[in-house]
Amino acid sequence: MGKSGYTSLSLDEKRYAKLRKDWESHVTTEDTFTVWATTVLEKAIEREKELSSRYGGLHFVGSTQDGGCIIQEKGEVIRITYAKNTLTCDHDKGMCKHILYAAMHPQF
Ligand SMILES: [Zn+2]
Repeated sequence: MGKSGYTSLSLDEKRYAKLRKDWESHVTTEDTFTVWATTVLEKAIEREKELSSRYGGLHFVGSTQDGGCIIQEKGEVIRITYAKNTLTCDHDKGMCKHILYAAMHPQF
């Protein structure tokens, strides 16, 4: 039986073990894992809502193996690459809305 006033969230055991190990190794917080995870989920959803509001024509497709990501804009594929500590867009020179969108996206 769970803690009163709380609900449970079932996670894949292997993913949870890795998540918990990484959290313990890399996250500095006074929060418990559950409080921290809930806050991060809330922030991620807020971020996606904000991105939809600011960049309604953009859609996050996924991350790439090389540290970049793929975005779609009006059916067009836009590739963001990461090299030498810099994000680059294959459609624009310098900083652009695609790079900002990618950098702010919680799945990137
Ligand atoms: Zn761009």
